[in-house]
Amino acid sequence: MRRVVIAGLGDSGVLTAIKLAKHAEVVGISAKPGLVSGQELGWRLSRPGEWARHNWITFDKFRGLDRVRTVQGTLTGVDLAAGKVFLDRPDGIAAVEPYDALVISTGVTNGFWRKPELQSADEIVAGLRAAHDRLATAESVIVVGGGAAAVSSAYNLARTWPDKRVELYYPGERALQHHHARAWERVRSQLVEAGVQLHPGHRAAIPDDFECDDITSTPVEFSTGQPPASADAVLWAIGRVRPNTDWLPAEILDEHGFVRVTPELRVPDHRGVFAIGDVAATDPLRTSARNRADGLLARNILAEFADRPLRSFRPASRRWGSILGIQPDGLEVFGPNGKPFRFPAWSFERILMSLIVRRGIYRGVRDNQPLP
Ligand SMILES: Cc1cc2nc3c(=O)[nH]c(=O)nc-3n(C[C@H](O)[C@H](O)[C@H](O)COP(=O)(O)OP(=O)(O)OC[C@H]3O[C@@H](n4cnc5c(N)ncnc54)[C@H](O)[C@@H]3O)c2cc1C
Repeated sequence: MRRVVIAGLGDSGVLTAIKLAKHAEVVGISAKPGLVSGQELGWRLSRPGEWARHNWITFDKFRGLDRVRTVQGTLTGVDLAAGKVFLDRPDGIAAVEPYDALVISTGVTNGFWRKPELQSADEIVAGLRAAHDRLATAESVIVVGGGAAAVSSAYNLARTWPDKRVELYYPGERALQHHHARAWERVRSQLVEAGVQLHPGHRAAIPDDFECDDITSTPVEFSTGQPPASADAVLWAIGRVRPNTDWLPAEILDEHGFVRVTPELRVPDHRGVFAIGDVAATDPLRTSARNRADGLLARNILAEFADRPLRSFRPASRRWGSILGIQPDGLEVFGPNGKPFRFPAWSFERILMSLIVRRGIYRGVRDNQPLP
């Protein structure tokens, strides 16, 4: 059997590993002992226990990963000619994993909620709790940013704690610039209804050495000329993503450090090397994770082993999906045309999460308890 190494077991890596598990010997390497999804920041910050039940899942819980060997460690390098990756295990011992095909799915670093460092399960849970507690004790919160992470954070904080002053500062006339205007119009009215104070046209000044990876409390200054704004807690969700590619040679990266790929998700000039997810330079929005290219990638890897033609990934031109996450009245998912589709609250657990996500998408997840 051919050996596939999946480098990074996040949203895309886990799904790709599941798709390949019956057809190849699959080894998944991850800095974490489970899937810590990068999705739904607002839900994660406001109701971490419930978020974790669906989005922090140790690898042993996935039935689809039973045949996959998962290795915890930090990838440190690759020898593309010899077909091996190098990693440091949690005990500090270096290891090597050879491959016939390599999937690069190490994602991006974004704020304090998506970081590639090695973490134990206890550290992950402590991090989820700490961010929640920091925001729970703040009487006022500023959220800086105009993407889905910022908007969903402002909304969920305001709904969870109606007495808190929650303000959202974003640079353009509208937020959610990569979503259809219709999606923003709808979300805008939901933000106002939840009591979020909106501040369009405010571009926060970001000091050069500031990594945006902490909740801060110093006043926020604006390069657009308005006076500084203060709150007990400032949440930076400005989409300053950095690809987790410092373990890879520059020859396979684009000028921004993302992995160059062909439409077939293959790294040019390197047979057997593929990339998927937020790390892969597939299209300007790098949408191969949310557009579920994992199935296509698995098929292409097997096709390449068998010398069959590969298929192409077709990206969507606008962002789509859930923005505000599950609410007491259900879950709204916006299509690329900005039209919402609502899953009623009763169907969220029984149909969407249980049948569609856990059984359909993940091929079975053993009971995952919410955090205590
Ligand atoms: C089913 C599904 C539904 C989605 N729905 C939505 C939606 O509704 N709305 C929306 O906006 N987006 C959605 N998304 C997309 C989502 O926002 C992100 O695009 C997705 O989380 C990116 O996944 P990833 O695997 O590329 O990165 P990640 O999930 O971040 O995974 C990268 C992994 O690699 C590890 N790693 C990094 N560096 C190293 C290293 N050196 N050594 C070892 N491990 C390392 C990281 O710790 C992490 O575990 C969806 C995605 C999926 C799969």
